[in-house]
Amino acid sequence: MILNMIPSRFKSRDSVKIKAVILDMDGVIYRGRTLIAGADKVIVELKKRGIKIAYLTNACTRSRKGRVEKMKILGIDADEKEMFPTSYAVAKYICANYPKSKLNVFYIGGDGVGEELIDAGISVVDAKKADIVVIGLDSKMTYEKMSNGFRAIIRGADFIATNIDATFPVEDGLLPGAGALVEFLSFASGRKPKIVIGKPNTYVLDMILKELGVGKDEVVMVGDRLDSDIAVAKKAGVRSVLVLSGITKKEDLNKLRQNEKPDAVIDSIRDLFSLF
Ligand SMILES: [Mg+2]
Repeated sequence: MILNMIPSRFKSRDSVKIKAVILDMDGVIYRGRTLIAGADKVIVELKKRGIKIAYLTNACTRSRKGRVEKMKILGIDADEKEMFPTSYAVAKYICANYPKSKLNVFYIGGDGVGEELIDAGISVVDAKKADIVVIGLDSKMTYEKMSNGFRAIIRGADFIATNIDATFPVEDGLLPGAGALVEFLSFASGRKPKIVIGKPNTYVLDMILKELGVGKDEVVMVGDRLDSDIAVAKKAGVRSVLVLSGITKKEDLNKLRQNEKPDAVIDSIRDLFSLF
């Protein structure tokens, strides 16, 4: 089944057929370890209506498999094929852009990054032998690990960031995100990452459209961050829905220019069907 959007909510584009919903995770489906009320029911209902789902998250600490497990704990059935964390996307990017002889990667990130790199046939190596340094959020980050990454970068290894989120939301507030670690290495080495895989870069969103076989006019992106979720949708020409259950507060919307505004704003994913 295909959804029809109510034109009054999506003024610029009339009654369009939506075939897939792209969901950010943190702040949309859950906050820390807590499910956002009603998210599970909305996902079941979307599937019942034949809408494809893709989870587009800048998080890299888990692999696709790890993401499915986390969803299971929250009571949501998901498939690995629906998962597009930056851990997976960075491995895809490296395979598509480097020759086999250069697939030697030192990473700073959660286990998810390592699992996806190995799954893609990439060698995970000591920093001294690395052609590429991948950096993402790593809760076990140490000064030693960062120093090793820094030395590989100044020696000439390529520098790739999974994402540059400044923060991420948990139950009792915010924690520093991958962007803080990227800045650490950038500041010390004087180099910027060659590419940032995650939102607001459209790399992963483009990958989703291709893998799902849907056009940008047939999807809607749902997220809680203006600078990543809404920004990536705008860049890609995809409709966007902002939820207020995560980082963004209602008053933040007042500061936006017209071209930065999401197509719709809802309190929580629970209210998604009010738009259709
Ligand atoms: Mg989020």
